[in-house]
Amino acid sequence: MSPVELRSDTFTVPDEGMRTAMARAEVGDDVWGTDPTVHALEERCATLLGFEAAVYVVSGTMGNQLALRAQVRPGEELLCHEDAHIVMYERGAAAVHGQLTTRTWSADGGLPDIDRLRSLVRPAGYSPVRTALIAVENTFGSNAGRVVGLADLRQVRALAAELGLALHCDGARIWNAHVASGTPLSSYGEVFDSMSVCLSKGLGAPIGSVVVGSAATVAVARDMRARLGGGWRQAGIIAAAGIYALDHNIERLAEDHRRARLLAEAARVDPGAVETNMVFIPTPDADAYVAAAATAGVLVSAVSPTVVRVVTHLGVTDADADHAAKVLASLA
Ligand SMILES: *Cc1c(COP(=O)(O)O)cnc(C)c1O
Repeated sequence: MSPVELRSDTFTVPDEGMRTAMARAEVGDDVWGTDPTVHALEERCATLLGFEAAVYVVSGTMGNQLALRAQVRPGEELLCHEDAHIVMYERGAAAVHGQLTTRTWSADGGLPDIDRLRSLVRPAGYSPVRTALIAVENTFGSNAGRVVGLADLRQVRALAAELGLALHCDGARIWNAHVASGTPLSSYGEVFDSMSVCLSKGLGAPIGSVVVGSAATVAVARDMRARLGGGWRQAGIIAAAGIYALDHNIERLAEDHRRARLLAEAARVDPGAVETNMVFIPTPDADAYVAAAATAGVLVSAVSPTVVRVVTHLGVTDADADHAAKVLASLA
């Protein structure tokens, strides 16, 4: 039996149906704006999330960075969580490419309380650095894929409107938040000025993310994508995988969430803390845990010296989950 892959939902590989859709995709030259499959994917995402426009990009990192740069000018500031993907994993891109400054908040979930958030925004006229944008990650990956709730997001929307800030969602796993909470995708869309959503995590496409926003924001993002060398030609071949993923793999995320809770119970973690497809397991020596699990045929990862992360996805069957549960129980 090959090892059970629980390190990330990025390890998913296209199934037969997805590969067939890719093989049959009608394509054009997307740099010339003539790839019908790319257009279809962009329109689909804009409609699903309730935005004017969308642009298909190579990665979630590129999606976030284009959205930030389209809405924050050099020397202006963005606010996000101290452990957000935007500051933890994007290699300082906001500073390197965008000349943006970043300030961060700490909070267990994805958001601090609204008064704390308000206190971080620099008041207009009192500082030469203008706070221009708030970025919220949903689900919040650095704390076990927690869902940021719509009521909290609406409070942030009101604050952003009052203070004239843009609001961006790093929605790499917005699909998981939608399925776990029952919140319509368009309700998330109503709250934000822009979103970056990944097709290559739990949805199972091999490559690709989409930025949605106003026509003006997306036009700037498209221009910057070209400047970074992100213009692509017969991209419909992979856009077809994205459309297939949206058609087939959103509702089934509930299965991943169910298996994650099962693994949490096995690992003696409160299943109530597992809202989506991630389990964080506290342990005295995360590296030793990872090595012992690997020896028993289960691949997990260490996210800190004392926390192990387990991620379920469409490549994990019930039989895989049962085997993994036994191994995690033996390590608990
Ligand atoms: C994966 C991920 C991204 C984007 O990642 P890429 O590897 O660049 O596609 C952005 N935000 C979060 C929260 C993610 O998990």
